[in-house]
Amino acid sequence: MEKNTVRFPAALKLQLRAMKDIWQCDKLYMIAIICSDAVSAIVPFVPIWFSARLLDELAGERRTDTIWMWVTLTLIVTGLSALLQFCLKRLADARSETAELNRETLFMEKFYNMDFQDMDKQSVHDLRTQIRQDEDWNGLGFEFVVYDFSSCLKSIIGIISAIALTTGLFSAPIPESAEQFRILTSPLFPIALMAIMALISVLSGKLTAQARTLMMERSKLNKLSNLMWTYFSTFGLDGHEMDVRMYEQESIVKHYFKQGLTDSYGIRGPFARLTKGKAGILNGLSDSFPVIFTGSIYVFTCLKALSGAFGVGSVTQYVGAATTLSGNLKRLFDLFAYTKLNAAYLERIYEFLNIPNTMYQGSLTTEKREDREYQIEFRDVSFRYPETDVWALRHVSVSFKIGSRIAVVGENGSGKTTFIKLLCRLYDPQEGEILLNGIDIRKYNYHEYMDLFSVVFQDYKLLSQPLADNVAGSRNYDKERVVKALNDAGFTERLKSLPEGLNTCLYKEYGDHGIEVSGGEAQMIAIARALYKDAPFLILDEPTAALDPIAEAEIYSQLDQIVNDRTAIYISHRLSSCRFCDEILVFDHGHVIQSGKHEELVREQNGKYHELWNAQAQYYAKPEGC
Ligand code: ADP
Repeated sequence: MEKNTVRFPAALKLQLRAMKDIWQCDKLYMIAIICSDAVSAIVPFVPIWFSARLLDELAGERRTDTIWMWVTLTLIVTGLSALLQFCLKRLADARSETAELNRETLFMEKFYNMDFQDMDKQSVHDLRTQIRQDEDWNGLGFEFVVYDFSSCLKSIIGIISAIALTTGLFSAPIPESAEQFRILTSPLFPIALMAIMALISVLSGKLTAQARTLMMERSKLNKLSNLMWTYFSTFGLDGHEMDVRMYEQESIVKHYFKQGLTDSYGIRGPFARLTKGKAGILNGLSDSFPVIFTGSIYVFTCLKALSGAFGVGSVTQYVGAATTLSGNLKRLFDLFAYTKLNAAYLERIYEFLNIPNTMYQGSLTTEKREDREYQIEFRDVSFRYPETDVWALRHVSVSFKIGSRIAVVGENGSGKTTFIKLLCRLYDPQEGEILLNGIDIRKYNYHEYMDLFSVVFQDYKLLSQPLADNVAGSRNYDKERVVKALNDAGFTERLKSLPEGLNTCLYKEYGDHGIEVSGGEAQMIAIARALYKDAPFLILDEPTAALDPIAEAEIYSQLDQIVNDRTAIYISHRLSSCRFCDEILVFDHGHVIQSGKHEELVREQNGKYHELWNAQAQYYAKPEGC
């Protein structure tokens, strides 16, 4: 349940901070809103004032030319102001999409720049999803700040205009002949009316806020709604198309849809029950209270008109202006209450945007060494993932000889990928240290250190972009190097068949002429991307898992030549491919339990490597009798 513990001054401070951020995101949008709101706040008073003059004339001297003048003026000024209001509103609306996207960049940039360990946390993803849901479902967060600002502006201008039009109501003198109405000039009347107005505005603001709180408590992200929206928006479109079709998994989506309808959004769901029940009553009461003020103004205005203080035209002006005044006041007080409510959601936004970068960023340069003489050592390294208690790596001590080929093997979940993630400094270990040429890697400039590694992760992703951009990781590339990398990765024949060569777009999301690539082809492109980066360390996590046996054999036969003088690390389940490596590290439950060359390890009858090797070898062994 959302507890609103933020006090008004703190809420206002948050609101102002959000305003500043939104202003920075799109100044033009804010200017468009200010102009549009100022005009739309004044526009309703134009016909009120002009028709009052017209009615005064009709009820008074009834001069034809004056009546025509007021009619013409009313039409022209009302028409022109409505046109201006429409144009400015269009301008603000047109800009609102851009403004929303600009605000989105705040979150996007934060995601790209936060420490990887935070980016990878489920709690951070949940926080972002909740922020998005607050905005999409309830218009809260930044979305509400814009609405709040716009409505406040309209209300304040509306209140000032209404007060300007109602001053005559209290100041108009009572004629001598209406002595019995003299009491109406008492200052107690405006004071009493203002007190009624203030009381009602505060009260109805509180009731609206209570109703809103009840609705918002219901819309807090829960497991069901999270699942429901994830399934609705991405299921079957996110690479699961074939599974969905083969296993008719849409029944799962339908199940959650039905459950969501009954449990949350249906006619008997909690939202509907609230709208029909408590929240509905609170909203109804809040809307009906201002009628008391409008009624009091009516009575006072009519009594004064009866005394002859002003004509029928002024009656319409005062009643019209007072009604608008009460509407604007109610809106303003509703907004004060909402500002407090929205503060809890702004806090959530800033909890995300303020996630600190705690990873130590050193300043040492890694020196671009032509000889690639980079020596890496893991010294008693232990690591567990954030928000978990289990050690994914424990007391790992290994060092790589420069230019060597290292194979990392072990069962699933034994810590192989984690080892690579630490090596690339996506995470820092909790215990021990990793050294580059004898110096803790934390002391190096982070980006320069990252530049030392080319990695093909197991679950790599290619972009729906031209092939060359994918390989180069940039829109500017060296064509010859891109072609060489693709050739080295075994993509030569496929490249020849591509309709637009290097400019061929991968996948169809980006362009109509995009091509679909097979798993094996995608893996070749990912390897080419790693080769193009030309870093001193080449790391391939399951490098050939998706390749056919011929492509795999080709890659392995060329690998030595491709890798050249780099240090290469392969994570592989196919132990046959480890035979040519200088060193094999065997992982088990986060520990490195064996290391050495294939021939040595396979001889250790009780060792894990022997077990793994035999488990695979039986599939290649000749059946008896053949
Ligand atoms: P391998 O690559 O050998 O299959 P991993 O290094 O991926 O194994 O995983 C080692 C252990 O760490 C496993 O128990 C796995 O469940 C856990 N693990 C991996 N990634 C994460 C993560 N992002 N958050 C929490 N635990 C993780």
